[in-house]
Amino acid sequence: MAEQFRNYIGGEWVAGSSVNVNRNPSDTRDVVGEYAQADAAQAQAAIAAAKAAFPQWSTGSIQERANILDRVGAEIIARKDELGALLSREEGKTLPEGIGEAMRAGQIFRFFAGEVVRMAGEKLASVRPGVDVEVTREPLGVIGLITPWNFPIAIPSWKIAPALAYGNTVVIKPADLAPGCAWAIAEILSRAGLPPGVFNLAMGRGSVVGEALVASPDVTALSFTGSVPTGRSIAAKAIARMAKVQLEMGGKNPLVVLDDADLPTAVNVAVQGSYFSTGQRCTASSRIIVTPGIHDQFVAAVAGKLSTLRVDNAMLAGTDIGPVVDESQLGIDQKYIEVGKAEGAQLVAGGERVERATPGYYLSPALFIGATSSMRIAREEIFGPVACVIEAKDYDEALAMANDTEFGLSAGIVTTSLKYASHFKRHAQAGMVMVNVPTAGVDYHVPFGGRKGSSYGSREQGRYAAEFFTTVKTAYTAP
Ligand code: NDP
Repeated sequence: MAEQFRNYIGGEWVAGSSVNVNRNPSDTRDVVGEYAQADAAQAQAAIAAAKAAFPQWSTGSIQERANILDRVGAEIIARKDELGALLSREEGKTLPEGIGEAMRAGQIFRFFAGEVVRMAGEKLASVRPGVDVEVTREPLGVIGLITPWNFPIAIPSWKIAPALAYGNTVVIKPADLAPGCAWAIAEILSRAGLPPGVFNLAMGRGSVVGEALVASPDVTALSFTGSVPTGRSIAAKAIARMAKVQLEMGGKNPLVVLDDADLPTAVNVAVQGSYFSTGQRCTASSRIIVTPGIHDQFVAAVAGKLSTLRVDNAMLAGTDIGPVVDESQLGIDQKYIEVGKAEGAQLVAGGERVERATPGYYLSPALFIGATSSMRIAREEIFGPVACVIEAKDYDEALAMANDTEFGLSAGIVTTSLKYASHFKRHAQAGMVMVNVPTAGVDYHVPFGGRKGSSYGSREQGRYAAEFFTTVKTAYTAP
């Protein structure tokens, strides 16, 4: 019988009203575990526990808070191989990618352990004689966290750690497709010294547990990462009841390759940014905009490189690209490959479902050329190992194409020109700009987020996380 994993509510491990079978996308015979599904009443119990725990936690010892987060970070780092293997098994990232993401999660907890004791306010002179003004930050209350499957340990960590660091209490609902990593973090948190109710894990359907978090007047703020339609619907409901909301959503990230680019750099940046982690990254490059002088060489080199990559079981040594996360996402990727062909783009590499020794959702990395900015494959987020090349006559046209999108998460350029690199950094309409590095791949101590349809609300990560997870108070004092 598969191992059973419960929810963590009010300091107790509780069974759900049903279970969700978590399967390995590299080998669909392999069941990672059966994960509890909370119903609406359990979601409410988690919110009530977090509400009850808030007064004590928000005013308690900051040294104790820092110690707890530091212990959690240290344990994740010490267990990164085991947690990385769990991630790889449930989500399909390669083992090195899974271990790297687990390491990142530990670093994030340790970063916010430090932030606990670094939170500063301001003291100013008043324009009124004899009065002092202080500006301080205070925690918000109960935070609802709703996370996607594609970074199942990093994204929960970069929401949980700052929420707790700044004195809030938490209810998290991870994605049903990959709840195992969030459960593992909950298990570590359950032994780290938190008072009961400060942290709660409520696994279950988005339409049940997610909706309960969004609707509850006791949830002061919601931080969501996921798709655009879900994000929009959460925002509308949250704003209607005046809850604070932060959304990180999709992308259609451009990578511009100019004639003066170093070819091996361009190929590495494009292949890594478009296809690693099976292209299932909101920051993946999916539109590669190339100028004519390098176009043919670049396309030939990328197609050649793709033919050498090994698509296989994520946990095998030597695998470069693991499986697509599930059958439904595989179907979406395949549908877009047909759409691209029907629109007149030319498929020059990959795009085939492939069989491996273990039954899984394997798709060879697909490269289209001859795409235009108006094609659906160049406008809509696919979220798989599929990228298209669009030819631009010069830098100006490439920049205009890069910005011709409803999204604005990450934008990249490969060039040896300081002039174009500087201009692109200033004029790319994206929250993150990359010069000679892949559009995917970020640091944990600086802000993460986008513009336009990609993000809403203040940034995540680094010190900027305080803007979402705290509220500002201005105090005037006359002696
Ligand atoms: P979804 O939007 O489908 O799901 C995200 C989370 O929202 C899941 O936990 C889901 O639960 C939950 N949810 C679903 N419906 C509701 C609802 N009505 N109310 C409240 N919560 C709900 O996205 P995916 O998990 O499929 O992730 C893929 C998408 O996420 C991609 O489009 C990608 O671009 C985006 N993404 C963006 C990132 C960013 O930082 N910008 C990072 C990673 C992904 P359940 O699992 O039960 O459906």
